[in-house]
Amino acid sequence: MRISEDRYDRDRQRLELALRFLTHEARTQTIRIWTGLSDDRIRKLYRSHLGRAACYVPRHRGKSPHQAACFTRSLRIQQETAVLASFFALAGLVPAEPSAAAGAALPDIARGNALCNAFETYTIMIPAASISFEYAVFLAECLARGDQLRLGRCCDCGGMIVVERFPIREKRCHHCVTAARLG
Ligand SMILES: [Zn+2]
Repeated sequence: MRISEDRYDRDRQRLELALRFLTHEARTQTIRIWTGLSDDRIRKLYRSHLGRAACYVPRHRGKSPHQAACFTRSLRIQQETAVLASFFALAGLVPAEPSAAAGAALPDIARGNALCNAFETYTIMIPAASISFEYAVFLAECLARGDQLRLGRCCDCGGMIVVERFPIREKRCHHCVTAARLG
């Protein structure tokens, strides 16, 4: 009896997380990786819970993001990335020693909910946020693996920023770059 109750609870937690990911317009592949649900169950969940609201929550198909360079593209994106990454760090989503193994172990139910909390806080902090949920998931995976991006420090003020693994030159945060430009 106990075993089946535990199994029921775990299944309910998976479904709840999948719904949360769906409302953030996550791709089926991303939901499958983080919840362990099959594509078929994710599709059924989408139809039964969000199908009528489908015009408001579009489904994304195709490949997930894979370019870490998109997080350093402009000063504005760098600043948003630093804000989101700091929420990830506070939520315990960035391991002290990033590695391929830490990246592979990242997706689970508890961390999936922590990731949603961090993303939701980020969108409240930055109303015109330009990092989508899929890119936020990708950023969390990048920071856990540490092979392309890492948490770093602004060389002027020491504020937290996201940097390439092997930066060509010392990096400054959005505020210090703006201050330097204004002279
Ligand atoms: Zn700075």
